[in-house]
Amino acid sequence: MSKSLTPEKINDALNKVYDKVKKKKTGKVASYIPELAKVDPKIYGIVIVTCCGKVYKIGDFKKTVAIESIAKVFTLCMALQHHNKDHIIDKIGTQTSFLPFNSVLALRLSDNHTINPFVNAGAIATASLVKGKTKKSVWKNIHDNMNNFAGKKLKVSEKTYKSEMKTNEHNVALAYLLKSYGKFYNDVEDTVDVYTRQGSVMVNALDLATMASCLANDGVNPRTNKRVFKKKYIPFVLSTMLGGGVYEYSGRWMNEVGIPAKSGVGGGLIGVVPGKFGIAVVSPPLDKHGNSSKGVATFRELSRRLDLNMFHEKAECQMKNKNRKCI
Ligand code: GLN
Repeated sequence: MSKSLTPEKINDALNKVYDKVKKKKTGKVASYIPELAKVDPKIYGIVIVTCCGKVYKIGDFKKTVAIESIAKVFTLCMALQHHNKDHIIDKIGTQTSFLPFNSVLALRLSDNHTINPFVNAGAIATASLVKGKTKKSVWKNIHDNMNNFAGKKLKVSEKTYKSEMKTNEHNVALAYLLKSYGKFYNDVEDTVDVYTRQGSVMVNALDLATMASCLANDGVNPRTNKRVFKKKYIPFVLSTMLGGGVYEYSGRWMNEVGIPAKSGVGGGLIGVVPGKFGIAVVSPPLDKHGNSSKGVATFRELSRRLDLNMFHEKAECQMKNKNRKCI
């Protein structure tokens, strides 16, 4: 990874990538949640928030979309504050999946059924691990946690929430199926309600990049200087993002982009470059996997131009001591 990033290089890359990707006209906005179909497909913004709290931005960085599955990252973080990592591995798992994010077949075929915290089955089960005496207090924990990552109070779109609740039979079915396997840890209907609410939180690219930057910055929000997450669990969250953050595309993503990421069907996409910055793209039209089309193209281009791919370390031998002798 490049050790010589400068503000000029970052601004230059943002401008060039934005101009190039803006012209791309592929993808369709999500319509299986009726409210999402109403979003403006032209929204396109990119933001980078560095570990020093510096913000680089271009395009529609203030336009909000529903966070959808990106919320799963922060609910995983919340569950990790209530349980340890081994508990999450046991109750949810870290399997990758080659099937769509809401696949019943994947749930049936997988040994642990929950698969991982980022497909719908595993994500709803992860929400069922968040503690709270009532549905309201579970939601408060999840919402407060997202607010801490964003450094501001994030609003819920009641319209999106109601729209998804009305058409939520599939997620409810996944949750009951998990319950039948003994892989659900709280009341089904209440948890699906909270899970649906977490996806209806409205965010812009600046909010998302700020949230991602906390994971790049050892768990401290670089814009508020508040610790929002335990440093010791960050490698677990990031490696899980790398394995399944963009669903069946994750293998190719590792090859082409090579940084931990998470997408949402609202059109947001975040990436984390550990020790450097969080990146977010917002552009609602999606590819066939449910990832923002322009988002994927943006990350591919940014990774290439800024040399961000963690698998592209220079071949110079790192196994040398101070006297430059090989260990
Ligand atoms: N709320 C959406 C769902 O449960 C989230 C899916 C996504 O963003 N991939 O289907």
